[in-house]
Amino acid sequence: MIVVMKRGATPQQIEHMIERVEQLGLKAHPIYGTERTVIAAIGEKRDEFRQSLESGPGVAEVVPILAPYKVASREVKAEATVVRVGTLAVGNCHVGMIAGPCSVESEEQTLAAARAVKAAGATALRGGAFKPRTSPYSFQGMKEDGLKILAAARDETGLAVVTEVIATEDIPLVARYADVLQIGARNMQNYRLLEAVGEAGKPVLLKRGASATLDELLLAAEYILNAGNPNVMLCERGIRTFEAHTRYTLPLASVPWLHERTHLPVVVDPSHGTGHASLVTPMAAAAVAAGADGLIVEVHPDPESALSDGYQSLDVAEFEKLMTLCRRVAEAVGRRM
Ligand code: PEP
Ligand code: MN
Repeated sequence: MIVVMKRGATPQQIEHMIERVEQLGLKAHPIYGTERTVIAAIGEKRDEFRQSLESGPGVAEVVPILAPYKVASREVKAEATVVRVGTLAVGNCHVGMIAGPCSVESEEQTLAAARAVKAAGATALRGGAFKPRTSPYSFQGMKEDGLKILAAARDETGLAVVTEVIATEDIPLVARYADVLQIGARNMQNYRLLEAVGEAGKPVLLKRGASATLDELLLAAEYILNAGNPNVMLCERGIRTFEAHTRYTLPLASVPWLHERTHLPVVVDPSHGTGHASLVTPMAAAAVAAGADGLIVEVHPDPESALSDGYQSLDVAEFEKLMTLCRRVAEAVGRRM
């Protein structure tokens, strides 16, 4: 249910209604909008309390939330959420650009990538230190040594660092170094991990599972939001279909579909979404045209020598071209990059 407060409801009335909701055994999520405040009342037996809440001081009306996800839905919050951290702003008119290698491989490689993507206009650095690999024999990442390299790259370039956390027990370590915690496609439905990053207090980039529906993605985001973390970015990174010409199938209709239903920003990953370096730039531009609030792109100073995902990584010159094209598209659709 949403308890919609009247315009001009006082802070005391709002506080009172939050307490009322909690006394009824529901979880209260107040959202302080520019126009008015609403309180999402989340819980199993919510409908029976509707009349009682409606008679509260300063309350305009109480309406049921129809979507299965609650805090993530546009019904609860009409204005777009902007996630900001350091140099990165994602959402509304800001198109964020997160770029860097698939994996942190060495200080030299990561710093070269960081300097190059920064010079080309990226607003955050990506790089995996903990890598979820299909084969246990593939490179698993540099772990804490990799996190230290990412922190050094942030110190030098100022770029916010986006890096993946794959296990609940690693969250304190990764959160010490990262600005944004990435939840990978393979972990989208690891609900304990989602709750734990919800409690960690850092913005989260939540990737769509390769076989997950968009409703499932939104419900996964709901776990993080419900744990008290409002800074969630959704990421379309492609899904598994019968089609084999690309590594995954990248459905860009996800972007406007999600925008209709959620206030959360939507980031697109054309690198994993296509799996071929030559397809990344056209799909990045298409994503921006479709309204994406951000891109996450794999860039390597020497893709041929990459320890993971080299075939889908852009070199620096290719990334510069991507930036030029995407900036023009962003401007054409009324956004800033
Ligand atoms: C990655 O970003 O390097 C990654 C492993 O992505 P995904 O979880 O989308 O496969
Ligand atoms: Mn990768």
